[in-house]
Amino acid sequence: MIKFLDLKKLNGRHGAELRAAVRRVTDSGSYILGDEVSAFEQEFAAYCGVKHCVGTGNGLDALTLILRGYGFGPGDEVIVPANTFIASILAVTCCGATPVLVEPELESYNIDPVKLAKKISTRTKAIMAVHLYGQCADMKSITVIARKHGLKVIEDAAQAHGAVYGRKKAGSLGDAAAFSFYPVKNLGALGDGGAVTTNDASLARTVAMLRNFGSKDKYLHEIKGVNSRLDEIQAAVLRIKLKYLDADNSKRRSIARYYRSKINNRHIILPSVTSGDECSHVWHQFVIRAKDRDNLQQYLAANGVQTLVHYPVPPHKQKACAEFSRNRYPVTERIHREVLSIPLNPGLTGKEIAVIVSALNDYKPG
Ligand SMILES: *Cc1c(COP(=O)(O)O)cnc(C)c1O
Repeated sequence: MIKFLDLKKLNGRHGAELRAAVRRVTDSGSYILGDEVSAFEQEFAAYCGVKHCVGTGNGLDALTLILRGYGFGPGDEVIVPANTFIASILAVTCCGATPVLVEPELESYNIDPVKLAKKISTRTKAIMAVHLYGQCADMKSITVIARKHGLKVIEDAAQAHGAVYGRKKAGSLGDAAAFSFYPVKNLGALGDGGAVTTNDASLARTVAMLRNFGSKDKYLHEIKGVNSRLDEIQAAVLRIKLKYLDADNSKRRSIARYYRSKINNRHIILPSVTSGDECSHVWHQFVIRAKDRDNLQQYLAANGVQTLVHYPVPPHKQKACAEFSRNRYPVTERIHREVLSIPLNPGLTGKEIAVIVSALNDYKPG
């Protein structure tokens, strides 16, 4: 069976370096907000091309703390794509604001700027652009709409580490961005982790306090914060893995290019690079579509290829989001019915890639 993702193999490529990094922290005696976190924050800010990076406990908290840092709360609306991973929506509800769901474009799976513009009300405070599956949202159109209405643009870049849009990196395309370093992400830790990137010095200061009990100076609490810090071990691990991110992303791009040129089954719709810029996509997932997705998934499993669905149930159909259950999002529902993620990661061998392509090309719906 070709595994969808073999994290042991991926991290094993850097086993000795990762063990040395963990050991360095073990021996340092400093485990929370020490030198590794500061160094990673500087390195990741430089990588993204922004002035500030603040490490957090995970990606959801990074998003939530941005919204709280801007002071959004009850009565405020934040626009979010309807087909995102639920965390983008939970960040809005966590801070007491109201998520307003907007349909994606079927072609890019990212928020549809035309439909977005129609959902802006007097209560709208921000647009959360999610770079889903590793492809940057239409930031040009989103920025025009946001400027016109005086809205903040927040990137959910949890799937887009290293993606480039018009010469700028994901994480530097709006007012602030949230990253997740959950192990399966393009830049993944050996546990939970997250970060906020921004050029807004005041927001960075507030988020740095919010993640640490609302405190800048020990035992003095200026605001009501939470405990959500990136820890030293994960920061040390991420410093190693950041060195390999660009090489890994270019491997992902070359596999995606191969898939897009070799998979030619008329029952399968391949993902597109919508901006026309190959580098805007870092292929966190390679997501195909098929009318009979469940059959295709079973067929692939029977032929030795493990696949996943991102995501089987859209947020508005989740029990946790009953407030949206009456709304209709036909594009989103269609996406959730038809999408299938096939293996694409820097650990795949040429032989595995060939097996995946020929299985897909041999598929005939029943
Ligand atoms: C992974 C992910 C998150 C949440 O990150 P965690 O670190 O797991 O909290 C948020 N948004 C998107 C789009 C994600 O893929």
